[in-house]
Amino acid sequence: MKDQPSSSPQSFHSPWRGLYRAVRAWRLLDHRCAACGLPAPSRRFCAGCSNDFLDRGPGCRLCGTPVHRAGMICGRCLATTRAWSQYWFVQDYQGPWAELIRRFKYQAQLSLAPPLAALLARQLKGEGAADSLQQEGWQVTAMPMHWRRRQTRGFNQAAELARLVALDLGLGYRQPLYRHQDTPALEDLTRAERRRAVRYAFGCELVSGRWLLVDDVFTTGASVTAAAEALKRSGAREVALATLARTPISADSHHNWMRAVFDGTPGAEDH
Ligand SMILES: [Zn+2]
Ligand SMILES: [Zn+2]
Repeated sequence: MKDQPSSSPQSFHSPWRGLYRAVRAWRLLDHRCAACGLPAPSRRFCAGCSNDFLDRGPGCRLCGTPVHRAGMICGRCLATTRAWSQYWFVQDYQGPWAELIRRFKYQAQLSLAPPLAALLARQLKGEGAADSLQQEGWQVTAMPMHWRRRQTRGFNQAAELARLVALDLGLGYRQPLYRHQDTPALEDLTRAERRRAVRYAFGCELVSGRWLLVDDVFTTGASVTAAAEALKRSGAREVALATLARTPISADSHHNWMRAVFDGTPGAEDH
């Protein structure tokens, strides 16, 4: 923005504007962890917070539900056909991790995108996925947002993350998916109602190859299922899913109850 002429009432503020710019420049050099405020590398959380966020037990390979060992598939996923072949996430949607995602998404704190995306990329690297995704020529895409919602929010949080994750993993990024129907919150609907609500919500350009679909939070799975199916209908050979967080669903408590009851006996996931 150009400086106002000296006759303008704005000129009164100009020394303060200079000071403000200097403070802002100083703050940009003085990197702080966005989670705890301690010194941290640029665009990253500090080592302590990163380790806390990445610290969790093994999750189902397709939905993240707690399982005994890494690489297992939970009973619910064994009984359903998932539209994606693999799922990665950083942490459950709770505590400080959920608070950071809320600040990023609803308070438009876009400076949180790099540290959040960096941890998701680190999760994929930690699980040894980054190399195979590169070798197999996977491309990254984001859950699309309806244009009206994007206009209100000003950005699509999933696209901000997907671009940065692609860059970090050395993969290409493209957005062939689009959302031509805005849908209400799905949490209160039944499973069948959710499927109906999103079935025709997504469109997709013609694609080929393998696609990593990125979103901020995995909740009911209905929207990502519809988006992954749209990708596949349009030519995608395989779709995988990565989100910052997953909302623990009621099935988790059922799973924990089952585990307590049948502790010591092999679960259905073993076969
Ligand atoms: Zn920290
Ligand atoms: Zn599962």
